[in-house]
Amino acid sequence: MQYSGRGWLGWVAMPYSTKIARMSDKRVIIAIDGPAGAGKSTLAKRVAEKLGYLYINTGAIYRAVALWALRLGVDLSDMHRLEQLAKEARIELTTGEGRVLLNGEDVTEAIREARIAEAASKVSAVPGVRRALLALQRGMAEKNSVVMEGRDIGTVVFPEAQVKIFLDAEPAERARRRALELQETGRAPDEQTVASDLKSRDQRDRQRSEAPLVQAADAEFVDTTGMSLEEVEEILLRLVRARTSNGRAAAH
Ligand code: C5P
Repeated sequence: MQYSGRGWLGWVAMPYSTKIARMSDKRVIIAIDGPAGAGKSTLAKRVAEKLGYLYINTGAIYRAVALWALRLGVDLSDMHRLEQLAKEARIELTTGEGRVLLNGEDVTEAIREARIAEAASKVSAVPGVRRALLALQRGMAEKNSVVMEGRDIGTVVFPEAQVKIFLDAEPAERARRRALELQETGRAPDEQTVASDLKSRDQRDRQRSEAPLVQAADAEFVDTTGMSLEEVEEILLRLVRARTSNGRAAAH
């Protein structure tokens, strides 16, 4: 597992130079957790752009391991083999366009399939897999301020994050958004199937013993049902401002 290379996470030229959090400042971690379809990726990306932080989608990391397991025909109940794969996988995330590399291959599109999401939620329930991917996720924020989204960022990956947000929305709205998203990538899912996929995935994510999807005690709960992206973005930026000095770490 590694995240090296020019332009790839780990050592990066950050995109929005005028708003960049200066490297001499203490890094800021913004943790965004919540169930599938709550709007985490879209909003995390927008907030990261506004602040000049790195955007890190941790779901992509679990999806990449799941893709590899499926390709190799690994039984998803074989915890030992899955842990081995997670340890051996070379996963890289780009900073600009958000590409995902698995063992050097660009798998950005391949990991977006519904069967990969389902497999990722099984793979990610394996404690050894989570342990193996923890250091990778922490390393990605070592040198930079980040907006990191997932299921356990505020509880496990960065319990010390300065800003923690738990994004949610009503199940029907989450299913509608996810169906739209899939349509935009050329697929034609029916909403019923999307809704039941999301439900079973969320249940598994909430009920697993290791790092379940749960709101951190000190996270802000934001229900995005019926809200526009702009409205939610404004709320999130306000929370960031309230908890940091305008997106920069407060001096200690
Ligand atoms: O975020 P996304 O829906 O792409 O994540 C796919 C799956 O990866 C989730 O359903 C969840 O099981 C797993 N995941 C996780 N912890 C994270 C991010 C994703 O367990 N931090």
